[in-house]
Amino acid sequence: MADAAFECLFCSIVAGDVPASVIAEDERTIAFMDINPATAGHALVIPKAHCRDLYEISSDDLTATTLAAQAVALRARDALGADGVNLLNSCGEAAWQTVFHFHIHLIPRYEGDPLQLPWLPAAGEADAIAAAAALLAER
Ligand code: 5GP
Ligand code: ZN
Repeated sequence: MADAAFECLFCSIVAGDVPASVIAEDERTIAFMDINPATAGHALVIPKAHCRDLYEISSDDLTATTLAAQAVALRARDALGADGVNLLNSCGEAAWQTVFHFHIHLIPRYEGDPLQLPWLPAAGEADAIAAAAALLAER
């Protein structure tokens, strides 16, 4: 994937051409600290092989990346004293993706931390939920 590595920031991190604070690595994945942390310990977990987003990632790389994120979550709990974690993936510009190499944000959460989620849970509209479910349902 020489072309992707040339153009892609996260491929450049995998290649060692852009410095990053790497916290974990295995055959398929690498985890490193986000330079703009949402909370203390905010990390990114990525497949080493370039893929643009959730739509394109292989099942093997998705599995490996998710398992690597779980391992970082456990360390955030045990080493940082996180009270919880949010895993976040943005797929597409409309979903705020800014780096187009698949990544899972691992965001440690602390009781009372000031992080705002982009929505507040509120009662849904039953008809709208049912209509979306009908469109999303496997046939
Ligand atoms: P996205 O917006 O695509 O969901 O997330 C991209 C993330 O990459 C952002 O949280 C951003 O802070 C992080 N990021 C952008 N550039 C760099 C960089 O050069 N190094 C590191 N470690 N993280 C970066
Ligand atoms: Zn890439």
